[in-house]
Amino acid sequence: KSVLKTRWLAHQLVHLESVDSTNIWAKKHQHELRHGAMVLAEEQTGGRGRLGRSWESSKGEGIWMTLVLEPGLPMHDAGKMTQLAAAAMHQAVVEVTGLPVKIKWPNDLLVDNQKICGILTEVSGELTRIERLLVGIGVNVNQQVFSGEIAEVATSLRIMMEQPVSRVALLTLFLKIFEKCYDDYVLHQSYGAVLRVIREHSMLLNQPIDVIRGDQRVAARAVNIHEDGRLEVVYEDGRSELLAGGEVSVRRK
Ligand code: ADP
Repeated sequence: KSVLKTRWLAHQLVHLESVDSTNIWAKKHQHELRHGAMVLAEEQTGGRGRLGRSWESSKGEGIWMTLVLEPGLPMHDAGKMTQLAAAAMHQAVVEVTGLPVKIKWPNDLLVDNQKICGILTEVSGELTRIERLLVGIGVNVNQQVFSGEIAEVATSLRIMMEQPVSRVALLTLFLKIFEKCYDDYVLHQSYGAVLRVIREHSMLLNQPIDVIRGDQRVAARAVNIHEDGRLEVVYEDGRSELLAGGEVSVRRK
């Protein structure tokens, strides 16, 4: 706790050697976890990305964590929280490594077109109000090599830097930045700094993309990231649409 520079975030800290998934653990132990809790694991044996896809989380080489948050916000703000986490991690990674990090809406950070971080936000609550958010974050820090299918899509900070990177330095900086962005928004309705980071470093904006919904794939152009975290796209017939992260995938052409 002494290394943390936060006022309230992660003061309840659960550090696990090995877990199926930190989000699943947080769900199972929801009654023991308070607002602001962090569940951190050295290894996940069943880490997940969106749509049930698996997330490789090798032992001691990454930051595999879940933040438990009760922002008391309306449900339609959930997407904003994912954007807030992405912007905070972007700033932390850039400050620690200096790497040219891109944000792939809605939930991934990439360097050189390869994924270094993924975010999986899960919401519970009634229809209109967020009761609790689980913000799952995986960062590839010190892997030296990836094998199998993900070798083509994944990279680590160590691979890009050609030297090991301190997980503690990155994590403590991220928590400090995240807490500031969170308080700015939840307490002061100020979201401009997050939007600026998201828009400035987006790899999709003004690019031709494919919008993938189920097995449908439609050509479009990403034109804006809306204040509420949704991506505005324009299709070839001129129609435009605001996409929420949960329902579609986008791929740069
Ligand atoms: P996307 O946002 O690209 O649709 P997800 O957020 O669902 O993808 O993440 C799951 C995908 O990420 C997996 O299908 C796999 O290709 C890739 N992946 C799995 N583990 C890792 C990892 N440690 N680092 C980078 N990419 C990974």
